[in-house]
Amino acid sequence: MKKKRIALLLACLLVCSGCSDHGIRQTSEQPGVLEAGEKTEENKAAGDEAEPYASRDVFAMDTYMTFTAYGMNAEEAVADAQELILKLDEMLSTGREESEVSILNRNGSGELSEDAFYLLQQSIHMCQKTEGAFNPAVYPLMQAWGFPTKEFRVPEKEVIDKCLSVLDVSQIQSDASDGHVEFQAEGMKVDFGGIAKGYTSSRIVDVFKEHGIESGIINLGGNVQTLGTKVDGSLWRVAIQSPREDMDYLGVLETSDKAVITSGGYERYFEEDGVVYHHILDPSTGYPAENGLISVTIISENGVLADGLSTALYVMGLERAEEFWRQNSGEFEAVFMTDDEELYVTEGILESFSTSYNMHVIER
Ligand code: AMP
Ligand code: MG
Repeated sequence: MKKKRIALLLACLLVCSGCSDHGIRQTSEQPGVLEAGEKTEENKAAGDEAEPYASRDVFAMDTYMTFTAYGMNAEEAVADAQELILKLDEMLSTGREESEVSILNRNGSGELSEDAFYLLQQSIHMCQKTEGAFNPAVYPLMQAWGFPTKEFRVPEKEVIDKCLSVLDVSQIQSDASDGHVEFQAEGMKVDFGGIAKGYTSSRIVDVFKEHGIESGIINLGGNVQTLGTKVDGSLWRVAIQSPREDMDYLGVLETSDKAVITSGGYERYFEEDGVVYHHILDPSTGYPAENGLISVTIISENGVLADGLSTALYVMGLERAEEFWRQNSGEFEAVFMTDDEELYVTEGILESFSTSYNMHVIER
């Protein structure tokens, strides 16, 4: 399994450059092809040196985030984006005792502000749309496996069964008029970890646009959102993370105005008695999803959808995921890698995706 080499590299960079108390670093480097912040000569060359730009690195939501805006007002745009990220982190993080989500989980009821309420609705919608493959109520299971605290363990069967009994999202009652949410099932808890980064990157795009920015790139721990094209009018080249230790990326996608979001078990996992257990849980079993996929990338204009589906289709496995794409193929494209390292690509991105792998094409 691949550890997050590039994230570690970034981590080293942050440590070496002496980041601030909030883990924020300001940078004047040009971004380019992005795979967790990596830059290539090719993309540097494609940037327009004369165009003003501003870039920031922030550590939030347990990940390294880098975002760059090009154009007048770029400084203000990234400053506002940074503020937004920190606000969302404070609101949504299950790791913060006083976040809105933690208070809701602790009390079984609570008031959510607009962003968190929207994410709850979107998560429930995603749960219905994916027939439960995506389920925001997995948090008790995440806790049982020890992922939030990193005190990893394989839970007893009774513990898993108890967590499985509080997964029914129809037991979440909510009132849009005041943001009040109430869990009808005792012990129910939610987690937006499978959807929050996609939401954050699409909100950053909104902030950039409010400042008149037409070109920008946002990289939240390898999940990329592009705004417009590069300043020279060429497409962004986004490298898709590889699950393999010895390879930097699966392939490169040329794109504009899209979220490119990848889920893989290699991102967070532990090993016990020689068995690897990762953080994407299958709500139908309570165990880490083992349905033959090791990486799923979703490409969509909609960041929330891309993030939710990267998690959900990973859980579904290739066959169900292919069928799901056929039924919803106007909404997204996808790249899958199976555990025998075969690469599958939906036909809509064939022209814009390049890879050294032999591609299997998924047709409509
Ligand atoms: P991602 O990296 O987007 O695939 O999200 C993985 C994160 O989503 C995990 O760390 C959990 O916080 C959460 N999660 C795990 N399994 C699921 C699931 N089946 N449905 C929704 N969220 C999940
Ligand atoms: Mg996701």
